[in-house]
Amino acid sequence: MILGILKEPSPETRISLHPEAVKVLTGSGNQVLIEKGAGEFAFLSDEIYKEAGASVKTRAEVLDSAEMIFQINPLELEEQKKLSKGKYLIGVYQPLVARDLVKELAETGVTLFSMDSIPRITRAQSMDVLSSMSTVSGYKAVLLAAATLPRFFPMLMTAAGTIAPAKVLVIGAGVAGLQAIATAKRLGAVVEAFDTRPSVKEQVESLGGKFVEVPGAVEDKGAGGYAVEQSEEYKQKQSEMLEKSIIKSDVVITTALIPGRKAPVLITKSMLVKMKAGAVVVDLAAVNGGNCEGTENNKTVTISGVTVIGNSVLPSTMPEDASKMYSKNVQNLLKLLLKEDQINLNFEDAIIKGTCITHDGKVIYEPLLK
Ligand code: NAD
Repeated sequence: MILGILKEPSPETRISLHPEAVKVLTGSGNQVLIEKGAGEFAFLSDEIYKEAGASVKTRAEVLDSAEMIFQINPLELEEQKKLSKGKYLIGVYQPLVARDLVKELAETGVTLFSMDSIPRITRAQSMDVLSSMSTVSGYKAVLLAAATLPRFFPMLMTAAGTIAPAKVLVIGAGVAGLQAIATAKRLGAVVEAFDTRPSVKEQVESLGGKFVEVPGAVEDKGAGGYAVEQSEEYKQKQSEMLEKSIIKSDVVITTALIPGRKAPVLITKSMLVKMKAGAVVVDLAAVNGGNCEGTENNKTVTISGVTVIGNSVLPSTMPEDASKMYSKNVQNLLKLLLKEDQINLNFEDAIIKGTCITHDGKVIYEPLLK
């Protein structure tokens, strides 16, 4: 099969397939084409890709010749329309948000696999890009907060006096949140965490964090690890309990998302004004409207002396490892999609069925058919 790696649109710095993956894929009989300079911002030169067995081409040549095309970010509509029927496309399309783009893509006859739709089942863990990119974001969020905070993270006992450790609150203890807790602990902060899923208490505690308990949460174990909407009464209780933790924290990292919905507002303006001057909020839910009132996506703003960082492209700030992890996830999906160098589409497989968005001229992704 001819596989094609495209250069990502700016400001993306990651690349979809790492040279290590290229070596394996060419080794099993595939041909790999790569757009000139595609790995530049991940510090992976054309030479490194050539050594791994790829051929360097122009974008037009890759789009024209490759049977399976890899680009993390969706292709521009105009480019998408030029793709010939029967090609395969692998990227992150957020089909529930980009409904129109997906519909147009289906009309071209292209088969799209969207990496963010990998089902949350144990067998698919090694393909889960949401988890791997959340790992990067959780880690980097803490480093950003530490670099912005006008105080130390660790407790210091020096000749110039004793410095108390920073207090960090992590809201949403999923993949990003747990990584944030671990990173903040390593830097010496005192960490509290909250989640509407009571089952994460143990995980928070095993990382050295203190779990903020709000009794009465509803948890659906069948929701694939995702949070479910809570009652108004619970939300009120949660808000009161959280406010106490928020106003005594130096740093708050928010990661609370409910798939397909606007992110819940958990830090209101009235809480922000009660926070310590110089405190930092890093809002990882910025792309879905943010968990903090006043968050602006991909901007840093100051509200009543509190720095609110709404950065939703943190994986792109660590392109080397983020690309390696994304690529490994894709490579693991390809183990299901390819038999040696031939496509092997088995729609009986829950991972293939759950990740395939368009096929044979139609949208086939179930959540879009309802
Ligand atoms: P996510 O990005 O959807 O949400 C982040 C966290 O925010 C979640 O823990 C969620 O419970 C929490 N949250 C949502 N609304 C909230 C609110 N109002 N207040 C406080 N917290 C709120 O989730 P995620 O990090 O991608 O993963 C969540 C869980 O799913 C994890 O336990 C993870 O281990 C599991 N998971 C399993 C697989 C798999 O089995 N293949 C893959 C990925 C994740």
